[in-house]
Amino acid sequence: MSKRDYYDVLGVNRSAQREELKKAYRKLAMKYHPDRNPDDASASEKFKEATEAYEILSDPSKRSAYDQFGHQGVESSGFASNRSATDAFNDIFGDIFGDILGGGDPFSRQRRSNRGSDLEFSLKVDLENAVKGTTEKIRIPALASCGDCGGSGAEPGTKPSSCPSCKGVGQVRMQQGFFSISQTCRQCGGSGRVITNPCRKCRGNGRVERTKTLSVKIPAGVDTGDRIRLSGEGEVGPSGGPSGDLYVHIRVLPHEVFERDGQHLYCEAPISFVDAALGSEIEIPTLDGKVKIKIPEGTQTGKLFRLKGKGVKKIRSTAVGDLMCRVVVETPQKLDSRQKNLLSELGSSLKDKKNTPMSSAWFGKVSSFFDNK
Ligand SMILES: [Zn+2]
Ligand SMILES: [Zn+2]
Repeated sequence: MSKRDYYDVLGVNRSAQREELKKAYRKLAMKYHPDRNPDDASASEKFKEATEAYEILSDPSKRSAYDQFGHQGVESSGFASNRSATDAFNDIFGDIFGDILGGGDPFSRQRRSNRGSDLEFSLKVDLENAVKGTTEKIRIPALASCGDCGGSGAEPGTKPSSCPSCKGVGQVRMQQGFFSISQTCRQCGGSGRVITNPCRKCRGNGRVERTKTLSVKIPAGVDTGDRIRLSGEGEVGPSGGPSGDLYVHIRVLPHEVFERDGQHLYCEAPISFVDAALGSEIEIPTLDGKVKIKIPEGTQTGKLFRLKGKGVKKIRSTAVGDLMCRVVVETPQKLDSRQKNLLSELGSSLKDKKNTPMSSAWFGKVSSFFDNK
């Protein structure tokens, strides 16, 4: 299959500036990142393709070579293999993306058989910390390499020996009818080694259970459902194998005052019906402290006041959401007789349509509805 044009891959035209390239690549990378599309080979291909295209086009000298000579221009010069695609990727997303989707190489996801398990950890974060970012200490029980035998599983001073059944290969061949098939060696479980003198501390396992404390950097703007990968902080592999990863799943706790919807925050503020009618100024809470808002004369219950930029900053972006404050007009309760009289007096004075346009309009609609029956 011939290679696609890099500009087509990123969906930009040939005069696209650096920012535009970056934006186009970012969009594709977010969509096709292997962490978001596990077991999807076509997404992984698209991710690589976009990364390669961005890597070439974002470098002025490579780009001009490509513009003049096409794919050959960058391949023959060795440009295309100069840097790994991960470098281009890290250029764009830097440590923040690294924190969220993991700092590991997104292309080397093949698991070796003796790799340790990945661990999952659910972390509750309160809204303030989720919005501002924080560092949380977590304690996780995990299998760690045994200190006595250094993870080999063999008693200190001894060494694992080559498995006699498979001669250290880990696989044995079996004859079945006409066919010779390969099977994992049962004696050594495929590792090719057997331990004759197991370590007493870990009973030959090479790993011991240990609680470890980790600091997790929570980037500002995280939301429920986000996960942070800590590369190599999972369980250590059996017989000295590489460690798995630790996935920290974020759950943002409900807040007493604010409700969050993505980047926006919502809150409710009660106001007296006198303030609603006459207009006033009220103080409402934001995550950075109180602010005053002006309630205009004749404000109805349910009116939403938008405070621009008082919401949540999006991860990987400078865009900030808004705070929406809904005012609720409170009907006064337990009035004494004097107050009741005052209200009755007010009530009988509200005869004019201009005082209560909503009610007048509504009664008008209702009566024409009955007239048409
Ligand atoms: Zn041990
Ligand atoms: Zn064996």
